Amino acid sequence: MSSTSEDRYSRQIRFEGIGEDGQRKLLDARVAIVGCGALGSVQAGALARAGVGYLRIVDRDSVELSNLQRQWLFEESDAREALPKAVAAARAISRINSGVMVDAVVADVTAANIDDLLDGVVLVLDGTDNFETRYLVNDYCVQRGFPWVYGAAVGSYGITMPIVPGRTACLKCVYPEAPRGAQPTCETAGVLGAITAVIASLQVACAMRILCGLGPARSITAIDVWTGAIRQIDQPPPDPQCAACGRREFVHLNARMRTPVSLCGRNAVQLHELTRPLDLADLAGRLAPLGPVRRNDFALRFETPPYELTVFPDGRVIVRGTTDVGVARSVYARYIGA
Ligand SMILES: [Zn+2]
Repeated sequence: MSSTSEDRYSRQIRFEGIGEDGQRKLLDARVAIVGCGALGSVQAGALARAGVGYLRIVDRDSVELSNLQRQWLFEESDAREALPKAVAAARAISRINSGVMVDAVVADVTAANIDDLLDGVVLVLDGTDNFETRYLVNDYCVQRGFPWVYGAAVGSYGITMPIVPGRTACLKCVYPEAPRGAQPTCETAGVLGAITAVIASLQVACAMRILCGLGPARSITAIDVWTGAIRQIDQPPPDPQCAACGRREFVHLNARMRTPVSLCGRNAVQLHELTRPLDLADLAGRLAPLGPVRRNDFALRFETPPYELTVFPDGRVIVRGTTDVGVARSVYARYIGA
């Protein structure tokens, strides 16, 4: 290790859990951050400062003014330019730690491209906002035996859990099915920067432990920063009947053929692979404060310019205002939750 590195990371090296050996491992590590919003931007900044040598940052969205309240790497100029988050994050990190190599990827992670997007990394941090992508990351990591760290936050509440294939339960052991019905999202229920920073920090500490060869603390941590409640739940052992780590069926990875239909010419994308029953009355109540909602027994229509969502009770959604599947998924995740 160079003397500059020894100086730069001296406080981390002095910490007995890391030491020179651990720091060397961090400098050599290759980590992917999937989703660079509130969780991902804190993860990326923290790992860059800690000296993780290579970061691949994958995100499908651009920086907006309403992100700045909690997405620590971004600034007003990024929002003005509507820079892709992955690109804005890479620029910020080049100013924070020029020794870190950052690969900025502007993409929506799907079953069709996940092999390419996560190729060559040894650990994945979850910065996504939806279960669909998390199940996909879980399938990928369990199949290949790579660790990943789940994290989620909305309102003042958040939860995190390490997943180390062969040692801990995986996401599908703990949540065999995605939550049913519309879920609170950061758009509909709001979110505090304090909770996303706490959850991301726990994910980062866990990732550093794993990268240093220590293995994760085997627990699920749930925190509400508004009430101060912190709950630690023992992570169960792997479930032999789990579809992912037990039966190794990897249904999410294998869903490559079930891509959503793009309704070309109508400037709309239909998402039908997310099918699950939705309570339209409940959803209308959540969306009403955010824009015009019209509803009958057969469908709900919600306007959020430049997009318009038509939601059906079986969970099928048509997003008008784009022909980009990634944008449509992003709009879906924001307003319906997944
Ligand atoms: Zn499992």
